[in-house]
Amino acid sequence: MSDLLQGKTPIRARHIRPGQGQSIEVEAGQFLQIETVQGKQVADFVAFRRQDTGEFLSTAATRSTNANIVPQLGMTLYSNRRQPMFEIVEDTVGRHDMLYACCDPVRYEMLGAEPGHASCRAALTEALAEHGIGYDRIPDPVNWFMNVSIQQRGELEIREPLAEAGDYVLLRAVEDAIAAVSACPQDMGATNASNPTDLVVRVYRDAPLPGAPAVQAGTLADEDQAAASAEGSEAPEDASVTVKAATIDAAPTPSAAAEPRSASVSSGDAAAYGRPAKLSDTAEASVIRVERSDAGR
Ligand SMILES: [Zn+2]
Repeated sequence: MSDLLQGKTPIRARHIRPGQGQSIEVEAGQFLQIETVQGKQVADFVAFRRQDTGEFLSTAATRSTNANIVPQLGMTLYSNRRQPMFEIVEDTVGRHDMLYACCDPVRYEMLGAEPGHASCRAALTEALAEHGIGYDRIPDPVNWFMNVSIQQRGELEIREPLAEAGDYVLLRAVEDAIAAVSACPQDMGATNASNPTDLVVRVYRDAPLPGAPAVQAGTLADEDQAAASAEGSEAPEDASVTVKAATIDAAPTPSAAAEPRSASVSSGDAAAYGRPAKLSDTAEASVIRVERSDAGR
């Protein structure tokens, strides 16, 4: 476990299977973690301001404000009103996309899939129905772990994700938000290495809880236990999630222990964030740097 997550308690979690979407609420100052369980799985991510869902995470505003087409460690993600919504505070991969639209039924029809193929857009619509957000209001997503190669003349090529089992991104919420995540079911190309797999999403509060509840058996629950989330209560909403956290505290995950790939592991200071090793390892990273220096002129 990284220093950033040390001492923080997951209060909410979602296990998302390919073709499924889940929404999850996160308050300002809390942390949202999106993890590819087996690796090489894209997470389509959208978010809305909780108090006014007319404001949502905008990839266009994020690209222009950062003058960058790829989500990067230390970057702020902006809304369609150009207000900060999230900060990328940790990233064990270093390669994501915010150019591609969600996969949707029309896209699969174009690709010759059988009718009824699951899609991120349908999954996100289902996940956000309880918040009154329909199909036509699903914004263009940030596609965590999606590996899009950008060529010199702007051609795009989807490659297998660089993310391995247990890789994740960690966001700090600047505003209270409703986020939704879909485990992309694209199985007709390299997007998910032709084999869509599961994601886990967790929300962490910023301080440890004073007393952990009694241990319950089981793995990550798909749903919050609403009864445990009474206002003012310090009990976590899902006891089984706390069990998972305790396990992590006692024994760091193998991937974190074996190879700390992010420069942020020993620092909470955004200014100290470095380029993750994986991005610098990719051939197209140099193309992106060229484009950035051009844009600065
Ligand atoms: Zn998809």
